[in-house]
Amino acid sequence: MVKSMDSGTTGDTSRNDENFRQLQKTFRDLPNEIELFLFTEKGKDDVFCDATRQVVRAFRELTDRINMREFDLSHAKAVQWGITESPTLVIAPDRFQIRWVGAPMGEEGRTFLETLLLVGMGDSRLSEQSRRVVEKIDTPRRVKVFVSPTCPYCPQEAVNGVKAAIEKPDLISLEIIDIQCKPKIAEQYAAHSVPQAYANDILIGQGAQPEEVFCDSLLKLEAQTIFIPDSDAEEVETDVVVVGGGPAGLTAGIYLVRSGLKTAVIERDTLGGQVATTPVVENYPGFTQVGGKALVDMLVAHALEYVQIFQGEGVVDIDSGMPLTVQTTRRKFKTKTILLATGASHRHLNIPGENRLSGKGVSYCSTCDGPLFKGRQVVMIGGGNSAVTEAMYLKHMGADVTLIHRRDTLRAQEFLTKRLEQSQVPILWNTQVKEIRGKDRVTDVLLINTLTQEVSTMETDAVFIAIGYTPTTDLAEKSGVDLTPEGYIARDERHRTSIPGIYSAGDVEGGYKQIVTATGQGAEAAMSIFEDIINPYWLREKEEKSAVSVSG
Ligand code: NAP
Repeated sequence: MVKSMDSGTTGDTSRNDENFRQLQKTFRDLPNEIELFLFTEKGKDDVFCDATRQVVRAFRELTDRINMREFDLSHAKAVQWGITESPTLVIAPDRFQIRWVGAPMGEEGRTFLETLLLVGMGDSRLSEQSRRVVEKIDTPRRVKVFVSPTCPYCPQEAVNGVKAAIEKPDLISLEIIDIQCKPKIAEQYAAHSVPQAYANDILIGQGAQPEEVFCDSLLKLEAQTIFIPDSDAEEVETDVVVVGGGPAGLTAGIYLVRSGLKTAVIERDTLGGQVATTPVVENYPGFTQVGGKALVDMLVAHALEYVQIFQGEGVVDIDSGMPLTVQTTRRKFKTKTILLATGASHRHLNIPGENRLSGKGVSYCSTCDGPLFKGRQVVMIGGGNSAVTEAMYLKHMGADVTLIHRRDTLRAQEFLTKRLEQSQVPILWNTQVKEIRGKDRVTDVLLINTLTQEVSTMETDAVFIAIGYTPTTDLAEKSGVDLTPEGYIARDERHRTSIPGIYSAGDVEGGYKQIVTATGQGAEAAMSIFEDIINPYWLREKEEKSAVSVSG
């Protein structure tokens, strides 16, 4: 659960002071001191070594429970422990096998904080379900998790690895590897997207996995997609379960709890949805320009003031009998109502090579994977707001980017189009990508000119795809909720779906896919749920029906 660990950002100084004091106390109360050993290479100090020292120094200003000693790579300890990369941070080697290769910067600061706290506690804090899975591991697992400082999905996967390494320190070792600092290691594994998790050099996870799915993949040494919990999983009663922690779900959470309803927000991946990976947002009222992740952090901090958020927990099933049941990878919620705010996921091109090379140069997240392609040739496919914003972001990151669009005008807003022109990103107009090619990684794309039908190839190291989104309706469909002919959840003006007690909000409903409309829909749905729980229309309808049948 997020509540206990995430300090969030509010921009409020007194709140930050309070958070700082709370964190100091948390470290003071830890049962174990935390020993860190930093290995660097003499005469080859770089920005990553400096950043690691600075991050650790910042934590040491907070607490004296952290000790760090620095050694050269030629030191006997480095030889004894087989350390060859600079910087490598070895964490509490007397108790665990956890190493950080690179610097814990940016988003990875969150992972580092959580690692220090878990190591200090000496407790993995794995869920009961996960513990039972890890318990079954009886041979060594050498885990490597590739991350980048700009990837909001990475902390979840890296922390999964940390928890497993703490739970079974004799058999599970962990290396968290920053691809920006160590592109050569990423190259060896062809890990061109983050997060990616390997165990004994076998890919066990691509993207952030719910904790139980990660543990199961680690046990089976094969990436799993679903985890069904034991039948004796914990049971929780609520008024509302909100499925999805994007702008719609988080806003609904705030409104619902303020109305006095017991509410749980469940999010399988990263909080904030697509906004978390949007480089810059310029049309959210009150902010002339704000980073997508910064906006999400503020939204999450606000939501956490009110509502319990269960992050990293996937919803497996919904039973639409009354009371409604929501089965997650960890527990079972019995609830009066459900709000489906499941958002949308990246649309795929569905062309040869796309799936096979996903994570090997094909990417749907420029903020996550962009850093790896600094100074390299990449293409961005799409002509909407996302593709244009992300093309400029990649250029800003130092990639040599070309935008490929299937028509001769962009769909993006005029304001962004002008900016793109100014940034001098080359555009291939009237061009479609027919195939993405490469053996173990992307090497080139096959193109067709839509006007002349002329076919050509273009060398590239990466293909970034931003061609819109498709609604995430698998749960809705599974539970029997009606969809529109366009594939969105069908709902009335009060956000009620075809199943009594189940509501929807946000991008899964279609319409204008803007952050501001999603938050508005979340608020509307929450108020509708509040009114219906006080005066349930499904009971009224039932009474009316039975009255008709008695009089009939
Ligand atoms: P979008 O607006 O739907 O644009 C998708 C683009 O991809 C279009 O240019 C489309 O080409 C192209 N495309 C679609 N399928 C394709 C295919 N198979 N092959 C090649 N190209 C293809 O998607 P988006 O840019 O991801 O934006 C999604 C929504 O989020 C929009 O409503 C957008 O306004 C919103 N958004 C909001 C913010 C914000 O609120 N700050 C930021 C980013 C995005 P055509 O033009 O030819 O159809």
